[in-house]
Amino acid sequence: MTDFNVVAAGDRAIPAQPFVARHLIDGEWRTSADGATFERVSPSHGSVVTLASKGGSEDVERAVSAARSTFDKGTWSSTSGKERATLLLRVADLIDRERDRIALMETLESGKPISQAKSEIEGAADLWRYAASLARTMHGESHNSLGSDMLGLVLREPVGVAAIITPWNFPFLIVSQKLPFALAAGCTAVIKPSEMTPATTVILGELIVEAGVPAGVVNIVLGHGDPVGMAMTADPRVDMVTFTGSTGVGKAIVTAAAGTLKKVSLELGGKNPQVIFPDADLQDALDAVVFGVYFNAGECCNSGSRIIVHEDIADEFVARTVDLSRRVPFGDPLDPATKVGAIITPEHHAKIDRHVRDAAAGGADIRLGGSGLPVPGLNGQFYQPTVVANVSGNMSIAREEVFGPVLSVLTFNTLDEAIALVNDAEYGLSAGVWSDNVHTCLEFARRAHAGTVWTNTWMDGFAEMPFGGVKESGQGRELGRYGLEEFLEAKTVAMRIGRTRAPWIEPQTA
Ligand code: NDP
Repeated sequence: MTDFNVVAAGDRAIPAQPFVARHLIDGEWRTSADGATFERVSPSHGSVVTLASKGGSEDVERAVSAARSTFDKGTWSSTSGKERATLLLRVADLIDRERDRIALMETLESGKPISQAKSEIEGAADLWRYAASLARTMHGESHNSLGSDMLGLVLREPVGVAAIITPWNFPFLIVSQKLPFALAAGCTAVIKPSEMTPATTVILGELIVEAGVPAGVVNIVLGHGDPVGMAMTADPRVDMVTFTGSTGVGKAIVTAAAGTLKKVSLELGGKNPQVIFPDADLQDALDAVVFGVYFNAGECCNSGSRIIVHEDIADEFVARTVDLSRRVPFGDPLDPATKVGAIITPEHHAKIDRHVRDAAAGGADIRLGGSGLPVPGLNGQFYQPTVVANVSGNMSIAREEVFGPVLSVLTFNTLDEAIALVNDAEYGLSAGVWSDNVHTCLEFARRAHAGTVWTNTWMDGFAEMPFGGVKESGQGRELGRYGLEEFLEAKTVAMRIGRTRAPWIEPQTA
């Protein structure tokens, strides 16, 4: 009997030909100026699923020029909120229409389960609809109490050209957390998806063109961080960078953007704790812990990768976590029953394994998993659901993003101890607490250093609620009204009414 619930390869065929992805520049689909291309090999099936143009500095130059001149002409920024909202809603409808096609490419490139990919595409369409509502309701301020001879206005204006740089773990969802908000604000954009997952951003580009968004408003350049992302970040014609990815690259972007003092918005990593008190509904908590750590194979900034369990219940809770982990369906991402798919690259697979080996060498206890997971019939890389107990707060597995299906278990006795463990981290993205006592939950919510706190739940997100991190988890917010604010500048207009201004220098009298 296998220790795990492995979903073997089914008979679902992958497309015979790879998806061909090109840059979208000024409304046209283009190959790279130097003709370079690259391939994406599916992490679950081991075959080439995408053939993409590989951008260089000339392609970035053309895309930024298009975004800049389109913005400066006012082609998009001077349209009414009603017009922008109409187009954003049209894109949302097209995303719904193409849901299955987008989800298939998302799964083939990222290795995530097809059922999850479909939900993410539905969630993305909802973000386009929400952003449309912001395009129509966005407004500034008026100040009518500055004195009888003054009226003050605060206008909200688009920042300008936004560079959007996205990672491989939620390619379609993350671009949809940024782009529709940028468009609602009136910005133009140049997007660079991760070179591991270019296809679905290209499909989004097709839908944007079909919806009738004017040429030059949305531009896409495919390729690597070096040189594409770096050139976008340094270009003086780009007004802001919005980035999701690793904290290391986030810091490099801040440094590069400093040369032209761009606005920078960053969604970075997390080492997100769930604290479990004995009075919680332990069945609910258990399910959320397993969901929190294995969702997207743990390749998730919000991964609940460490739990902090009260000592009175720790042994039983860990034993039940191990049992439930064995039941999670891991394997063929194209099977609708699968909950956890493949790991993004062989290199990342090796990095996950290194974290687990180092923890074991440092005295931690591998209660479950701890190595690769062969999936019959597939030629990709998968990792076993892994539970590591006896972890102390100073071990790297308790502090660093493993970005894999690996749970670290720590324990506590008092609320103060739990909060100290939660806050003893470089990251501050999200945190959770499980208790039936509302006072415990509220005190935890107030004291945890995190951009989001969940009480008796995990990873619920809403278009209306802002998302982002504190400390090294980032700066700025996505979603909600705050998500729109990132793409807006405030312009103050002070208007004198009548000729009441006292002269600074008295005029000469004749
Ligand atoms: P990166 O942070 O390296 O990449 C994210 C995006 O930034 C990609 O499009 C990448 O391009 C681009 N990029 C890379 N370097 C630069 C640069 N100097 N200037 C501008 N853009 C750049 O993430 P990885 O994909 O390499 O993942 C590494 C680790 O990051 C993971 O193991 C995980 O810990 C963390 N991560 C966190 C995410 C989150 O949601 N918080 C998401 C993804 C990763 P390209 O890769 O195509 O070269």
